[in-house]
Amino acid sequence: MVIDLKTLTIKKAHEAMKAGDFTAQELAQAYLDNINPELNAFILIFDDVLEQSKKADERFKNGTAELLTGIPMAIKNNILIKGKRTTAGSKILENYKATYDATVITKLKKVGAVFIGGTNLDEFAHGSSTENSAYGVTKNTYDLERVAGGSSGGSAVAVASDMALVALGSDTGGSIRQPASFNGILGLKTTYGRVSRSGAVAMGSSFDQIGPFAKNIEDIKIVYDCIKGEDKMDSTTLKNGRTEELEQKIDLDKKMTIGIPRHFLQEGIDADVMENFEESIKKLKEKGYEVKEIELPNIKYSLAVYYILMPAEVSANLSRYDGVRFGFKKEGENLLEDYMKTKGEGFGKETRRRIILGTYILSAGYKDAYYKKAQVLRNIIRKDFEKAFSEVDVILTPTTPSPAFVIGSKGDDPVQMYLGDIFTVSSNVVGNPAISIPSGFVERDGKNLPIGLQILAPHLYEDVLVKISDDFLS
Ligand code: GLN
Repeated sequence: MVIDLKTLTIKKAHEAMKAGDFTAQELAQAYLDNINPELNAFILIFDDVLEQSKKADERFKNGTAELLTGIPMAIKNNILIKGKRTTAGSKILENYKATYDATVITKLKKVGAVFIGGTNLDEFAHGSSTENSAYGVTKNTYDLERVAGGSSGGSAVAVASDMALVALGSDTGGSIRQPASFNGILGLKTTYGRVSRSGAVAMGSSFDQIGPFAKNIEDIKIVYDCIKGEDKMDSTTLKNGRTEELEQKIDLDKKMTIGIPRHFLQEGIDADVMENFEESIKKLKEKGYEVKEIELPNIKYSLAVYYILMPAEVSANLSRYDGVRFGFKKEGENLLEDYMKTKGEGFGKETRRRIILGTYILSAGYKDAYYKKAQVLRNIIRKDFEKAFSEVDVILTPTTPSPAFVIGSKGDDPVQMYLGDIFTVSSNVVGNPAISIPSGFVERDGKNLPIGLQILAPHLYEDVLVKISDDFLS
């Protein structure tokens, strides 16, 4: 039978496999056949996909299949799967094979999900376009001339172009939400600590979160429910569930209030993105939501705070790639030369820039001026959000100030690239959950390009994001 990948959801696929309409092997094959190499969404396709799905078929036969059994997934290639190459988009990890499973992978293996391949990303997740990968640029689903977004560009394109049903990405400063918006799908960044980071290649450890990509909110929720939870392998994971106090405060059936930080939406946003944003607000009003203007007086500093603290953490995390324990090694005349050659040739330009910036920020004499000051501001921004969330249930912004840009158009100007993260970084700075959902299209060069609406909720209120997304999209 021909499987309609475009309209398939996890539940539909599950029902069909249960009824015997198609097998997990046939489903995996349908996705494998649909992989378009021109888009360059995958760094590697796994060689045991059919074996994995055969095991899923056995579970359908013996009655132990769960919702995610046999569901083909794409995994960002910075998430460890035992025995598989995990490059993190870098030459330095070109031949590195994971020696253990990330906690999210252990959870997904337990329910029998099928992993199709490792998806392309900006090197070590440093970027917003997947142009910084050592494995070539990933192309946008809607226009081959344009970027996929990043850093989880490969995962977003894999789902949007039906090369996997759902995917995992990682979000340190927008890397799930931004490529989701550029490719017309949904992407969720969870509350910091909600999903274990064990087995995710570290970028900025106080920001990183793994999360799902999907084409509908139900699938986002199914994957999120599977991967979340406390983990002894990651001491920053939160205790399961909300406190009783939080539980009492939340009522999904009440009329919810949406906050709009208008003062933050004045400059640097494309006019048609703003027009689409106004339409989204109108749509939610019509659905019964109350809309209120809010102030986040220090949100304007969140980009600067992020681009100080993140490289500081990057420089510490990436110091382990010294050519001794992991991957690529280039020998010189002495130890110092070994390091210089290994790191100089193994890391790409943007990664080297961040290591150098971070080292500078943490150096004696500058640490107080930059690192400590940014930490203080991080707390102030957190308090701004706490205050705002005492007045409203969620906050809305566009996900990005513009749709996907042309490949190469921002390459020479890192600051231009960083500015595109203006709306996404604050939830990583603060740690609260945020989702990007498709809100329509804008035209560029005769092509329709998708854009996204970002919804932010207080810590641990992922179900509020699910509820509003569902209302908006239905
Ligand atoms: N675009 C941001 C950066 O370059 C975010 C990256 C991410 O979330 N991994 O840092």
